[in-house]
Amino acid sequence: MADYLISGGTGYVPEDGLTAQQLFANADGLTYNDFLILPGFIDFIADEVDLTSALTRKVTLKTPLISSPMDTVTEADMAIAMAKFEQGFITDPVVLSPSHTVGDVLEAKIRHGFSGIPITETGTMGSKLVGIVTSRDIDFLAEKDHTTLLSEVMTPRIELVVAPAGVTLKEANEILQRSKKGKLPIVNDRDELVAIIARTDLKKNRDYPLASKDSHKQLLCGAAVGTREDDKYRLDLLTQAGADVIVLDSSQGNSVYQIAMVHYIKQKYPHLQVIGGNVVTAAQAKNLIDAGVDGLRVGMGCGSICITQEVMACGRPQGTAVYKVAEYARRFGVPVIADGGIQTVGHVVKALALGASTVMMGSLLAATTEAPGEYFFSDGVRLKKYRGMGSLDAMEKSSSSQKRYFSEGDKVKIAQGVSGSIQDKGSIQKFVPYLIAGIQHGCQDIGARSLCVLRSMMYSGELKFEKRTMSAQIEGGVHGLHSYEKRLY
Ligand code: GDP
Ligand code: GDP
Ligand code: 5GP
Repeated sequence: MADYLISGGTGYVPEDGLTAQQLFANADGLTYNDFLILPGFIDFIADEVDLTSALTRKVTLKTPLISSPMDTVTEADMAIAMAKFEQGFITDPVVLSPSHTVGDVLEAKIRHGFSGIPITETGTMGSKLVGIVTSRDIDFLAEKDHTTLLSEVMTPRIELVVAPAGVTLKEANEILQRSKKGKLPIVNDRDELVAIIARTDLKKNRDYPLASKDSHKQLLCGAAVGTREDDKYRLDLLTQAGADVIVLDSSQGNSVYQIAMVHYIKQKYPHLQVIGGNVVTAAQAKNLIDAGVDGLRVGMGCGSICITQEVMACGRPQGTAVYKVAEYARRFGVPVIADGGIQTVGHVVKALALGASTVMMGSLLAATTEAPGEYFFSDGVRLKKYRGMGSLDAMEKSSSSQKRYFSEGDKVKIAQGVSGSIQDKGSIQKFVPYLIAGIQHGCQDIGARSLCVLRSMMYSGELKFEKRTMSAQIEGGVHGLHSYEKRLY
């Protein structure tokens, strides 16, 4: 049975392809382009493929995609869009008092983008609910009415549908649905306002079932810190702001500084999930796992903007790095992020098939609408800037990126990245669904109904790989055409 598999009634099929263990058995480092996955048997539709995967020991995502902590990739817009914006209980809503004016509501609308505002006696949370004002109450008022007091236009407390403090989000949503209103105020037994929920969010919950949320239905968010003394202050602020995951951002994570920082965080905030890295060997991973990390970030020198391998002589081809670290870390239940070098959706599938639980993307998400920075034109092409955090450009702007790539005492700065530009990709609201569908189709071709199944097929040796020669890589790309247009979705 070792060498032959039984296939239907027509006899034996010889063993074919390499197991992951065999693929990485010799010392050659492999990139995602150096191998392919052999297809399996399909008996389900792509839509059904379950992409749930672990980011850390305790945090699970519904899709295995993360944006990179880089100043040209992720700020609030990207983080919110990646997590699919949807709130649960809003516990610190904008509140006004009956003596505020219609003008104040209009101003709130301009500043915050919404106009459904609960009215309490003192205009603050925790004070008695006396009414609600929504766009419908003020839409048709003339300019001169902007001084009108809210007490005159609000729907008074007596007419309001509210829910008692302590209701579950599910119950509250049901009440909201039945009331057919836009907002549901939540009050305690003294009738003081403690929270609101919005109908819009209920709709988003239906429209974005893949949103990744914590137990309070707040979107999950991670943030990066360094390992210096002043990063401890940043850490405090991030935890106060509700960060669920902290990433220790270092290009070579196997250091006394990072180990000390892991100990510090675990002691001060025992429930905070900590991702260590970056690492590319099992030996590096061991020290961070021993220190107590809940996840590992894998990649050194494989990023699109990265010149680490060229300059520092250290690094590892990413396919090998992901397989080696994931294969070691799984024994301790520590999930691995494949960070950098993802150029196509096929690379995502390969990273996951080598044992990564999630992938982190820089260049793939750069130059989208949600990425920071303005678009500009060069030779008629619409571009956004994308730069390595270890580029001189980024370091001159931010001291935190200096710390990732340099030691304090360094007299000469050695760049580990470049600064460049990428063509406009449009919104990730279109691009991420393409990535998700692409991963599902990849899993379908492999015959894996879920990412869990994909990983267990790999470790059991059922999943088969094959090396790709240079000419195989050329064959696998578009070739022999005079010209062509490549549209992906
Ligand atoms: P409105 O009808 O103009 O109030 O707006 P919607 O209810 O359509 O949308 C409001 C969106 O803003 C929802 O997704 C809310 O979760 C979000 N939001 C965040 N903070 C607040 C807040 O303090 N008050 C309100 N009303 N909405 C908020
Ligand atoms: P909109 O669609 O965003 O304008 O907001 P709503 O559907 O929440 O509100 C529509 C109207 O109903 C406004 O005049 C609100 O002041 C009022 N209203 C909001 N909540 C309640 C409620 O619980 N009971 C009653 N009777 N009226 C409400
Ligand atoms: P990409 O997805 O663009 O291929 O790679 C993004 C990853 O490259 C980031 O998540 C980060 O790990 C890494 N990175 C970002 N900036 C730099 C840099 O300046 N130098 C190096 N060596 N790596 C970088």
